Amino acid sequence: MSDILSPEDQHYLLNNLGPINVDEVAGNFNYNLFPEEVEQENDFLIIEDYKCEIDKTITPAPVTENVLTNEEYTGPYNFEVLIDPYGSKNAWVYSVPLNKVYMNMKIPFPVDFRVHDRPDFPLYIRTTPVYSAPQFAHENVYRCINHEFAPEDVQNHVRHHIIRCNNRLAEYEGEKSRNERLSVVIPFAMPQTGTENVREMFEFVCKNSCPVPGMNRRSIEVIFTLEDMSLNFLL
Ligand SMILES: [Zn+2]
Repeated sequence: MSDILSPEDQHYLLNNLGPINVDEVAGNFNYNLFPEEVEQENDFLIIEDYKCEIDKTITPAPVTENVLTNEEYTGPYNFEVLIDPYGSKNAWVYSVPLNKVYMNMKIPFPVDFRVHDRPDFPLYIRTTPVYSAPQFAHENVYRCINHEFAPEDVQNHVRHHIIRCNNRLAEYEGEKSRNERLSVVIPFAMPQTGTENVREMFEFVCKNSCPVPGMNRRSIEVIFTLEDMSLNFLL
């Protein structure tokens, strides 16, 4: 049994993994997630390979501080972050009661954003991964060396980021060489006619099990913050 998952996670997954098609989860990414001999010993390899908690937050704390608050706060514009628990049959498992998402690397993962009271100036959404456990919360989340140097058609400073957004206007902020926290900022687009939500696709390019300086079996949360044009936090 996994040494990463908590008993409640294991229970949840035992009861919910049935419909997941592992071959499709592995998709074209050439992962051998369930080698047969491992499957015998650990039914949840896929899950411990990627576990992340999605949180929604607007925080008054500047992102450059070492510890971000992960209290949920919708703010004056009623910023909401939504994950459709039934949005995919195969790519991930979302536990509503646990508010956790379990997925593999490089699986495009949709997140819907909305504000109920949109101001008349441009808005931005910052996405920041942080370690969930208080003892690691001050540490910045970086990629492992293997994945950092894997062939990839991105600018050098993007290589350290574990979260990518496929929005072509995404800006990757923070420098590992300066020991800064890394985040990705996207413009908060206007919703299409007929919907309140704006959907953005994210993917994660390291696993929980990646060695230091990667996550090294530490679970993460993803904090979404709503910001204004000068990238000030909106209270
Ligand atoms: Zn990695």
